[in-house]
Amino acid sequence: MLQDSFGRKFHYLRLSVTEACNFKCQYCLPDGYKGPSESSFLSVPEIRTLVTAFARLGTSKVRITGGEPSLRRDFPDIIRLCRQTEGIKTIATTTHGGRLAKDALAWKEAGLDQVNVSIDSLDPRLFADITGQNKLTEILKGVDRALEVGLRVKVNTVLLKGFAGKQLQEFKDWLVQTPVTLRFIELMETGDHPQFFNQQHLSGLPFKSQLLDEGWSPVIRTQDAGPAEEFHHPDFAGRIGLILPYSKDFCSTCNRLRVAANGKLHLCLFSEHGLDIRPWLKEGDVDALMVHLQTLLGQKHATHYLHDGNTGATSHLAMLGG
Ligand code: SAM
Repeated sequence: MLQDSFGRKFHYLRLSVTEACNFKCQYCLPDGYKGPSESSFLSVPEIRTLVTAFARLGTSKVRITGGEPSLRRDFPDIIRLCRQTEGIKTIATTTHGGRLAKDALAWKEAGLDQVNVSIDSLDPRLFADITGQNKLTEILKGVDRALEVGLRVKVNTVLLKGFAGKQLQEFKDWLVQTPVTLRFIELMETGDHPQFFNQQHLSGLPFKSQLLDEGWSPVIRTQDAGPAEEFHHPDFAGRIGLILPYSKDFCSTCNRLRVAANGKLHLCLFSEHGLDIRPWLKEGDVDALMVHLQTLLGQKHATHYLHDGNTGATSHLAMLGG
C-alpha cells in the first residue's frame, strides 16, 4: 500500500493525459493553450505500466484529466486499459463536456464510471465570459446524455466572487430535478494568476453553515472519495459538495497522488516540482516503478503552502488537471 510518513494512504490516482485544452477559462488558460512542456505526452503503453504499478500498490480509483482529456483520440483506449487493470474499481474523468453529448456512450462502453463536468455558470452569457466558449447548451445536453447512458455525473463550479450570488441560486434551482453532485470549488491561487485570485477568491466556508441551516445533511465519505465535503437534502434530486482547499485540515484527508502528462509525479497539486518517473514508464518495468514510487512518497509534505501564497511549481491547473 502506498502510505506516506504521516500515515496517509493513497487510493486515488489523478492522471493527466494531455496539457492541451481548447477552452480559455479566466482562472486557468485565459490566453489559451501555448504548447507542451515536453516533446510528447504519456503513451498508452506508458500509461498501462503506470496504472498497473499504482493498482498493485493499492490504488483503486483513477481519474483521467488534463488539459482536456477528450482531445486525445485514444481517450477511449486509455479508459479501456484502466478498466482492464486488476484492482482498479472506479474510473472517472474530468472534462469541459464539449464532447459529452456525442461520446458519453462510447466512454461508458469503454469502462468509464463517472464524469465530472466543469460548468461555472448556468447563464449562457456568463458561461461564455468565464470559459471563452459559447457552448453551455451543448454541455448541458452532454450532462443529460451522460445520465441517460448510466454515468455518475458530478459538476465542478469554481466559486468566483463576482458571480457567486447568482451561481448559488441558479444551481440550487437546477438541483431540485437534476440528479448530479454539484461541487463548489474555492478558487486556488496559481503561479500565473495571482491578480485574478486576489480579485475573485471567495471563501466557501460560510456556504457550509448556510447549507446546514437550510436542512442539508453531510454525506459520509468513502475511502477513495475526492476532496469534497458532500451534502444531501430530501427536496433535491442533486447533491452539493464543497471543496475548500484553504480550510483547516484539508490536507489531513489527502488520499490522492498526481501524474502529469509529461510523466512527472506530483506529491501535491502545489508541490515545488514534479518528480521524474518517465524512465521507469518507458522501460515498462512495473516492479521497479513500484519500489521507486514508495521511495518518492517519503518526500510528501504534511500540507500545501497556499496560505503563504506559495503555489509551488503550478502555474495553472491545466498542467496537472486540478
Ligand atoms: N479540461 C477539464 C475541465 O475543464 O474540467 C479538466 C482540467 S481542469 C484544469 C480541472 C478542474 O480544475 C476544472 O473543474 C476547473 O474548473 C478546475 N480549476 C482550474 N483552475 C482552477 C483554480 N485556479 N482554482 C480552482 N479550480 C480550478
